[in-house]
Amino acid sequence: MRSTAPPSRAHLWWRVFAVGGVAATVLYVLDLSPAVDAVCFAAIALTTIVACFTAPRRLGARPRAAWIAMGAAAACFLAGVLLRPYVTAQPLIADAATVPGYALLSVYFALLLRSRGSTERHAVLDGLIVCLAGGLASALLLAAPTAALAGRPAIQSVLAALYPLFDVVLLAACINLTFTARVWPPSLAALVSGTALIVTGDMAYAVIGVSGQTYASPLLDVPFLLAYTMLGVSALHPSVVQLGRADRHPVQAWSWQRMLLLAPAVATPFVLLVTVGGTSAAFRLLIGACGLAIVTLLVLRAVSAVQAHVAAQLHSEYQAMHDPLTGLPNRRRITAEVERLAAATPATGPRRVWVCFLDLDGFKWVNDSWGHDAGDQLVIEVARRLRAAVPPGVMLARVGGDEFVAAAACDEPAALRLVDAVQSCFAKAVPVRDTEVVISASIGLSHAPGGGDPAKAAEALLRDADTAMYRSKAEGPGRATIFDASMHDRVRERIELEGALRTALAEDQLTVVYQPIVRLDTGRPCAAEALVRWHHPQRGPIPPMTFIPVAEDSGLIDALGTFVRNEALRQLASWRADGTVDAGFYLSINVSPRQLADPRLAQIVAGELTRHGVPASAVALEMTESVMADGGGAAARVLFELRELGVRLLVDDFGTGFSALGYLRQFPVTGVKIDRSFVSGLGESAEDEEIVRAVVAMARALGLSIVAEGVETRTQRDALAAVGVTQAQGWLWGPGVPAGDFALHWAADRDVPGPAPVVVRHP
Ligand code: C2E
Ligand code: CA
Ligand code: CA
Repeated sequence: MRSTAPPSRAHLWWRVFAVGGVAATVLYVLDLSPAVDAVCFAAIALTTIVACFTAPRRLGARPRAAWIAMGAAAACFLAGVLLRPYVTAQPLIADAATVPGYALLSVYFALLLRSRGSTERHAVLDGLIVCLAGGLASALLLAAPTAALAGRPAIQSVLAALYPLFDVVLLAACINLTFTARVWPPSLAALVSGTALIVTGDMAYAVIGVSGQTYASPLLDVPFLLAYTMLGVSALHPSVVQLGRADRHPVQAWSWQRMLLLAPAVATPFVLLVTVGGTSAAFRLLIGACGLAIVTLLVLRAVSAVQAHVAAQLHSEYQAMHDPLTGLPNRRRITAEVERLAAATPATGPRRVWVCFLDLDGFKWVNDSWGHDAGDQLVIEVARRLRAAVPPGVMLARVGGDEFVAAAACDEPAALRLVDAVQSCFAKAVPVRDTEVVISASIGLSHAPGGGDPAKAAEALLRDADTAMYRSKAEGPGRATIFDASMHDRVRERIELEGALRTALAEDQLTVVYQPIVRLDTGRPCAAEALVRWHHPQRGPIPPMTFIPVAEDSGLIDALGTFVRNEALRQLASWRADGTVDAGFYLSINVSPRQLADPRLAQIVAGELTRHGVPASAVALEMTESVMADGGGAAARVLFELRELGVRLLVDDFGTGFSALGYLRQFPVTGVKIDRSFVSGLGESAEDEEIVRAVVAMARALGLSIVAEGVETRTQRDALAAVGVTQAQGWLWGPGVPAGDFALHWAADRDVPGPAPVVVRHP
């Protein structure tokens, strides 16, 4: 498990360490006594070692193995430094500790560079070129003179010559790190300066080595002390977690910084040839070999840079044409494909260009209920199934959040088979998170012969398939529709209606009417249903069945719902105040599924109740079964909150939706409204009578209230009363009427009126 120390404490540690490191270095420079020096050095080095082993791990830095290598390297160097003054006669003993330190440090850099993704081929080649040049220079200028010293074992000379070479390797790794870093976290800066200090210290030793010394004064160790401090800071600083994360510039194979590094490296053999080359044939041979190797590496590097460039270009072309989530072609790519098909298909004959547009039904619910990760997971799975179902020659693309397009040139039977194949993908539930979601897709198909302008043809085909898909959607989930020209008119009509509805909301063209809900035993209203009405100034009354779906699709339903609720609550408050209705009277208000998706709904309703001074028990909210069948999520929480408030919750159009009734127990529903399709058959159809009887029995068992809707005749009323239904609404008592008419006809203090004398035909 990964845990992160609180930021303030984490920052405290590296600061304390840095101050301690500098203080110890100062003490060391004062050179009070060899014992004090040794203690200072050991203290810094030991804390660094402990820091490398523990801090990056605690902070969650990766790769872990890198920091273990760094800690081990620091331990090796400490051993080397502590030993060196005591083994001046046998310096090899100290080297035996130091050399593995370099190897471990190289391992550290290799792991770090790999984890940062900084090991592209040309970057590695750059490193090799610099190593070769630096190695050659240090061999000829430092190692060779050292090795030439008389009276030393050969192995010792070889080792002394090796140090500068190790440094060159470290430098190359460090340079690679700096070139490929886009940001400079403090941990990286500390690491680079630490490495630079090691190299400086080594160079100092190499320089004195030329004159035959292996140890001169404690001052020579100051760079190492500071290097330890820096490495410790690098390990302790919280930004150490960023150190191992991939961070590099986009491919810049020939950036000017790299050229600045490479040019001196390439020049090195020539400069050496001129300066020290003349002294021996062996030198010239070595210089020649290194020069050749450098040129070879340069050629390799040029080739690799070109390849990297081509790969980057291919990658960006791929990205421009593909959807990153599913890897499928995107809209641009499929548009080009439809154009290609339009150009390649003959203008006559059975083959036509077909475009199949599909949109997942209820995708928004998945996103809203389980979050976008679950939505992504669903899209990926659907994409996988579609790709497997669609024939190999047919291009499949993702063109929107939950929209896919397939395009093919084929005859009609083949196109219909394609639709079957697409639909078959939704037969099985899709696993999302820890549940399974049954999902469907609405499909629109369009087709056209080849020929003509391919770009225009492609545009029209995609647009028409989209239009046909919307038509499918309007007819319910899982439908497929083939485009025909009349659809354009319907789309235009819908868009116009949306605009007009927007205006209607702004200009108060909407009103609310009230339909009585009566007690069958007394014939008096115990409630009323609030129903919205729209009187368009030019087009006259527009029925709710026409504009409510438009309001739901366009999001206007929230504004519309707010209007109806507030108008109805205001009316109810005034009726309660003037005695038109008694305290037991309630008002039933419709809410659409989309409104219940708003997690703040209960809070909003609570505010409105308070503002109008109406108790929650005097309000019922009606919703269709689909809200509950869609399975909980955000809507379920809203329902529970609403019930908590005390409002009644009624299932509207009961019996027309889902056969599974489990939701009645699962959700805090208080009653059902039997759909008028069952009521209309009463007195004529024995089957409908049985259904109503069953609903009554079930509602009683669950303690739910029952209202029968759409009662138009006395026969129906009597049949309902006979099976035990107590409340009903319908034209028998009257349609929804404006508040004034309702009060006139139904005021609580008036005599019991009969059924409304004239049945007004509902608009
Ligand atoms: P609904 O909730 O089922 O409302 C009952 C519908 O049946 C109303 O139609 C009402 O006028 C009609 N009706 C009443 N009695 C009879 C009858 O005896 N026979 C017949 N054939 N019909 C009767 P309306 O007002 O056209 O509303 C249609 C639908 O529009 C409503 O169905 C409801 O789903 C929706 N709606 C109406 N007002 C609102 C509203 O304010 N908000 C929301 N979200 N939906 C509303
Ligand atoms: Ca209703
Ligand atoms: Ca209804």
